[in-house]
Amino acid sequence: MIDVKGWAAQDAKSPLKPIRFQRQDPGPKEVHIQVLFCGVCHSDIHQVKDEWGNTIYPCLPGHEIVGRVIRTGAQVTKARPGDLVGVGCMIDSCRQCEPCRAGEENYCEGPNSWLATYNGPMVPAAKAGKNTYGRDNTYGGYSTDLVVTEDFLLRIPAGIEPAKAAPILCAGVTTFSPLKHWRVKAGDHIAIIGFGGLGDMALKLAKALGAHVTVFTTSQDKIDSARAIGADDAVLETDKDALARFTARFDFMLSTVPQKHDLNPFVPMLKRDATLVAVGALEPMAEINHMQVAAHRRRIAGSLIGSLAETQEVLDFCAAHQITPDIELIPIARINEAYEHVESGDVRYRYVIDMESLRAAA
Ligand code: NAP
Ligand code: ZN
Ligand code: ZN
Repeated sequence: MIDVKGWAAQDAKSPLKPIRFQRQDPGPKEVHIQVLFCGVCHSDIHQVKDEWGNTIYPCLPGHEIVGRVIRTGAQVTKARPGDLVGVGCMIDSCRQCEPCRAGEENYCEGPNSWLATYNGPMVPAAKAGKNTYGRDNTYGGYSTDLVVTEDFLLRIPAGIEPAKAAPILCAGVTTFSPLKHWRVKAGDHIAIIGFGGLGDMALKLAKALGAHVTVFTTSQDKIDSARAIGADDAVLETDKDALARFTARFDFMLSTVPQKHDLNPFVPMLKRDATLVAVGALEPMAEINHMQVAAHRRRIAGSLIGSLAETQEVLDFCAAHQITPDIELIPIARINEAYEHVESGDVRYRYVIDMESLRAAA
């Protein structure tokens, strides 16, 4: 057994606190990773606070993990001790269903869907009967050590700073996957709604694909910073006159707003046959005026993280295009304060935990 230190919440109302627990030694096809860095995704906060109604406690989040392999099982062929590796949102899937066989594990249709890096299977055992993974809960990357099957490891390319690679594993792939799926290409006009951790990555990735990018934000100061980061235009969502000039402008729109919100002001901005993908809110949304959707054969869609292959692709894409998220490195002891800043929109643009601070703690 491996003695591990982590930070976890014991219930929806309490802050994260240090815990000690044990992980199993790696099996024949598993690796033991020393966690170096872990990004702080807004999903971590939703999960800790049980905002999706499916949290299993203790809840130990973290799914933007970069670490160093320190030990491998006897049959491992894809990693060696010393390798710099990543672990994203998934640590297993059923591997048999049609989406899994097609390389889209993030849409696994197995009886318990995919196994999340924290909070157990995407369909928890309590809700789906017997759990095919034999694990009701999983503990994520706010911890010193992780044990994962080699099949769900990502390679961190040389040329990306390890701390900056971490957010690519969720924020990066969650925005890259829909950009690719809806075939965003050079010259397209696209919009990003909500400029936080996902928005920052979406802007950089879309610019690298050659798109003309407009950012819609609720924060006055982000108008300038979005432009400085590369946005061709940045607009305050509350400025109704400004919104009016975007009618039928966009080939693709991506909303990263982290809660129920009204898409109706944005739908008329889609061109004929164009799609607005909401990745931010994973909950019931405000009613849509379907006349606006039908009128120009527009589409409203969703998208969930990305596949393993897409995660590797976006890591390699970021290395090739020299794209990194804007991050602020924090010690684990600042995690609860960091959550408050994410919720109030005060982060620019992603916190990443330096896990050395946890290893060094008493
Ligand atoms: P974040 O850093 O908090 O960014 C969200 C941004 O949305 C904020 O910076 C803010 O940007 C804007 N915003 C916040 N509240 C708003 C409101 N009430 N109305 C309008 N805009 C608002 O969060 P994140 O880490 O990027 O994650 C965003 C969401 O994506 C979270 O809900 C997370 O759970 C979800 N997510 C989904 C997937 C998936 O697979 N679908 C994967 C990862 C994350 P401005 O200041 O620019 O307005
Ligand atoms: Zn995430
Ligand atoms: Zn499957």
